[in-house]
Amino acid sequence: MKELIDRLERNGVLEKEEFIFLLSNFGEKEREYAGNKARKIATDFFGNDIYIRGLIEFTNYCKNDCYYCGIRKSNCNAQRYRLSKEQILDCCETGYQLGYRTFVLQGGEDGYYSDEMIVELVSAIKKKFSDCAITLSIGEKSRESYKKFFDAGADRYLLRHETANEEHYGKLHPKELSLSHRKQCLKNLREIGYQVGCGFMVGSPYQNAECLSEDLLFIHELQPHMVGIGPFVPHLDTKFAKEPQGSLELTLFLLSLIRIMKKNILLPATTALATIDPRGREKGILAGANVVMPNLSPQNVREKYSLYDGKVCTGEEAAECRNCLEERLNSIGYRTVIHRGDYV
Ligand code: SAH
Repeated sequence: MKELIDRLERNGVLEKEEFIFLLSNFGEKEREYAGNKARKIATDFFGNDIYIRGLIEFTNYCKNDCYYCGIRKSNCNAQRYRLSKEQILDCCETGYQLGYRTFVLQGGEDGYYSDEMIVELVSAIKKKFSDCAITLSIGEKSRESYKKFFDAGADRYLLRHETANEEHYGKLHPKELSLSHRKQCLKNLREIGYQVGCGFMVGSPYQNAECLSEDLLFIHELQPHMVGIGPFVPHLDTKFAKEPQGSLELTLFLLSLIRIMKKNILLPATTALATIDPRGREKGILAGANVVMPNLSPQNVREKYSLYDGKVCTGEEAAECRNCLEERLNSIGYRTVIHRGDYV
C-alpha cells in the first residue's frame, strides 16, 4: 500500500480500483505514512502558516431538502434567520480587526437575497475591505448570476459536490437535485474565473469505498483550488438522525491523500472534524490541512445554523474563537497569517 501512496505522490492520481483497494484496506500504519508525507508536502509549500477564513453564516432559509442537512426546507423545527447587509458588514469589521482577510458568506439557498442584493453586498464588502477576498457558498445558481457576483468582486466559490457517484447522490438528495447540474455549476464557476472549491462528506449514509474513489477521481478531473471535506454528522431532525457519524481516521486519511494528490491545494480542517473530536482541527492540520474557517457569525444566530448536531464553537464570541484557534495552532507548532491566502 505504501507503494500506491508513493505513486499517488508521483502521478497525482491512481486507478479507481487502486483507490478502492487503498480505502478498503488501510490501517494505522498507512494512515501514519500518508499523514507524514502529506504534512511534509504542506510544510514545504506553506511553512508553518495556516490560512484563516472568517465564516459568516448569513441565512439558514433554504429552498432545498437535502436529506442530511439540518436546515433543509422541510425541517420545521429549525428557527430561521437572515442577516441584514449591515449585520454582515459588522461581522466583517469585527473579523478585520481580528486579522481575517477572507470572508466566507455561506447560507442556504434563500431566494430572499436577489442577485442584486448579493451584488450589492459583495461590492459593499469589497469597497470597505479592499485587501480582503470574498468567498461565496450559496449553492447552485445560473451561470449569469455567478458572473454577476464575480464581476462585483467575489473571488472564490465553495460548492461541495457532496458525492461524485450518481446513485449515491440520489440517495442523499430529492429528485429535483442532480449531480450533473452540480458539476455543471462547478465547471461554470471555474470558467468564469473563480477560485473554486468542491468537496464531500466522509461517511455519509450509503457511501462506500467506490463512492470515495470516484470523489478522488472527480477532484483530479476538476482540478479545484480548494477541497472541503468533513465527517458526516447526523442531525436529529433529518431522516438520517440514527445513522452513524463519519470516522475520524477515514477523514484524516482522505485529507492526507488529497494533499498528496495536489500539493498546493487549499485544504481546510473543518468544523465538522472539530465536532467529532476535541482536537479534530489540530489532527486535520497534522494530516495535511492548511486552512481553518472559524465562525464570525453573530453569537445569537450561531446555534440556529445547525447543519448537524453538536456543532462546536456556537457559544463563543468571534474574538474567543480566534484566540482559542491561535492557542491550538501554536500548541502544534503552527500559526495563522494575516493575508488573503490565495491559491498559488
Ligand atoms: N447551500 C450551500 C451551503 C451548504 S452548507 C450549498 O449548497 O453549497 C455547507 C456544507 O455542509 C454542505 O455542502 C454539506 O457538505 C455540509 N453538511 C450539511 N449537512 C451536514 C451534516 N449533517 N454533516 C456534515 N456536513 C454536513
